[in-house]
Amino acid sequence: MDLIKSSFSEIKNAIKEKKISAKEVTQFFLSRIQSHDKKINSFITINDKALDEANVIDQKISRGEDAGLLGGVPFGIKDMLCTRGLRTTAGSKILNNFIPPYDATVVERLKKSGVVVLGKTNQDEFAMGSSNETSFYGVVKNPWNLECVPGGSSGGSAAAQSARFTAGTIGTDTGGSIRQPASFCGIVGVKPTYGRVSRYGIVAYASSLDQAGPMVSSVEDAALTLEVICGKDEKDATTSSKTVPAFTKNLRKDLKGFRIGVMKEFMSDALDKDVQLTVEQALDAAKKLGAEIIEVSVPLTSQAVPMYYLVAASEASSNLARYDGVKYGHRSEFKDLSSIDLDQFYSKTRGQGFGSEVQRRIMLGTYCLSAGYYEAYYNKACQVRRLLKNQYEDAFKKCDVILSAVTTHPAFKIGDRISDPLAMYLNDIFTVSTNLAGLPGLSLPFGKAHSGLPIGVQLTAGPFEEQKMLDVAYALENVSSVKGALPNV
Ligand code: GLN
Repeated sequence: MDLIKSSFSEIKNAIKEKKISAKEVTQFFLSRIQSHDKKINSFITINDKALDEANVIDQKISRGEDAGLLGGVPFGIKDMLCTRGLRTTAGSKILNNFIPPYDATVVERLKKSGVVVLGKTNQDEFAMGSSNETSFYGVVKNPWNLECVPGGSSGGSAAAQSARFTAGTIGTDTGGSIRQPASFCGIVGVKPTYGRVSRYGIVAYASSLDQAGPMVSSVEDAALTLEVICGKDEKDATTSSKTVPAFTKNLRKDLKGFRIGVMKEFMSDALDKDVQLTVEQALDAAKKLGAEIIEVSVPLTSQAVPMYYLVAASEASSNLARYDGVKYGHRSEFKDLSSIDLDQFYSKTRGQGFGSEVQRRIMLGTYCLSAGYYEAYYNKACQVRRLLKNQYEDAFKKCDVILSAVTTHPAFKIGDRISDPLAMYLNDIFTVSTNLAGLPGLSLPFGKAHSGLPIGVQLTAGPFEEQKMLDVAYALENVSSVKGALPNV
């Protein structure tokens, strides 16, 4: 069987019917990583127990037991998610020796459903970045063009999946980190509604924005992964007890009766021609499939980037205060601990352990939260955020799903923006609003730039309306001219 083109159900069924063993499947992907990842750098750590985990699946099957919804499907997991006994760095030097004593709920649920963990994928340090250039473990290359970034912060997951080093991957999205790299690498990425997926055991960046989700090859694989990872978790009080629909079974191919919103504010002149064409083609395709196209407006999206960077940096500065070199993680070397005070201990450890982008965010965030500035910055951003959410609510009275670009341009060159933080932040212009409003978002490969780079379209839905978003994506995927397109690795 061609494992590169197989869906999760095909892999799982083949293993179940003993046409191929879980061990052979895992070996196949491990070999691809071994032969090709040197040039891409999508993995930080390989799980040396992957083949043993696959063996356990094979044994279950030979005993006639159920191996789970994803029995034997190998995944790469972003290094933001804790994996028991397997190093978890969050892309940072400060966690380069951290081996978690427990699994994140997402990982636990995946394992329970039979997923084999291949290893931990590369990412921007603490998920801060849009290009995967801030990782302590090196830049990740885009498999479609090795001179380009894969996007970020889940760049390792996106690159690994697009190169088919993995059957599926997990990413996290605080301001676009699943959708933007998915678009840059030509894969499907879903950021669920805030509260849909447990954040327990995920290294916290900005707690009111973070969500984990699938970065995979098809909408069906995404739907299946969501069925496994979504749902109430006692260990995360922000998870919702809303029922998780049978996303996969419900998927439909026509869009009759669907109202697709085009957001005025996102159809800007700043769009690259190829990106604009891709969005137009997706809208035409949706119309042909029976959808009605409706113009909507969410004016406060124009303020989303400043709002996001205030909220995200503030929460990050608070979350990252825990890395002090005392109980775990990197600690600077001191000749004589008794001759320094605590401040010197912290500042040297944190100064060496964090990269410059993370330090910038901590300083910005600490400033925004400090007495005298809190009201003007953090609090103000939270108030405007609420208004943004209200405007989205109004828009979703008029339409079911909003279709837009994911980014203004396809993947950019490595080095092009890293020295200009503002240019980098502006890359998130179309993705951060979704997180601020707590909505689900999806990136679907739909076009191709003249340069050959993939282009995705973004779908956004109302809270807990993942099904609608997946339905539209599924129908569009079915008529997409880039369906099944793969880079030459
Ligand atoms: N690029 C954004 C940032 O740097 C979003 C990152 C993310 O979603 N984790 O914060």
